[in-house]
Amino acid sequence: MSKAKGLIFLGPPGSGKGTQAQILAQELQIPHISTGEMLRQAIDKQTKLGQQAQSYVDQGELVPDELLLGLIRERLSHADAQNGWILDGFPRNVEQANFLDQLLQEELAQFSEQALNLDVSDDLLIERLLLRGRKDDNEDTIRRRLEVYREQTKPVIDYYRDHERLSSVDGNPDPETVTASLKEIIAS
Ligand code: ADP
Repeated sequence: MSKAKGLIFLGPPGSGKGTQAQILAQELQIPHISTGEMLRQAIDKQTKLGQQAQSYVDQGELVPDELLLGLIRERLSHADAQNGWILDGFPRNVEQANFLDQLLQEELAQFSEQALNLDVSDDLLIERLLLRGRKDDNEDTIRRRLEVYREQTKPVIDYYRDHERLSSVDGNPDPETVTASLKEIIAS
């Protein structure tokens, strides 16, 4: 029997990974698990997690790993995630990637994971982020999120490349074109 798919979306803020993850999750009928979205909801509701995470999110910094790891482990154990899932925003540093690898080996061996990287030019990223206008999308936070991406999240791309689990897609064209490229890779 072939393994269920665990898709890991990688790419800088503004690369369109949230949009693409949502479209593909709907088509494949698997959950779209966005750590950014989970954190924003926790902040809106002012849960304990939300209170602990708020200052990091507001400043464009990564939330400490210990707040995220249990959250992901728990989310991936839900009934709706047993036939596959799309992770968007996790892993965001190499420690998180190691954690996910271990989880996949020890508890989620039924999944074969595939990392999909969306490549987008820097100019286009900033333009898209400013247009989007989310609460944490002011110019200073955007600049910081892009720095954090370069310093901490880019090595995750190398990690999956080294483990031969990475495919890259041109994320510059219109969303429909990007979706078509992603579907081709997922099906292959
Ligand atoms: P972006 O479009 O900037 O990639 P996200 O919605 O993915 O936005 O994330 C928003 C914020 O949530 C990040 O700037 C960060 O503070 C926090 N965050 C999301 N995922 C993680 C994670 N895996 N580890 C640490 N912090 C995270």
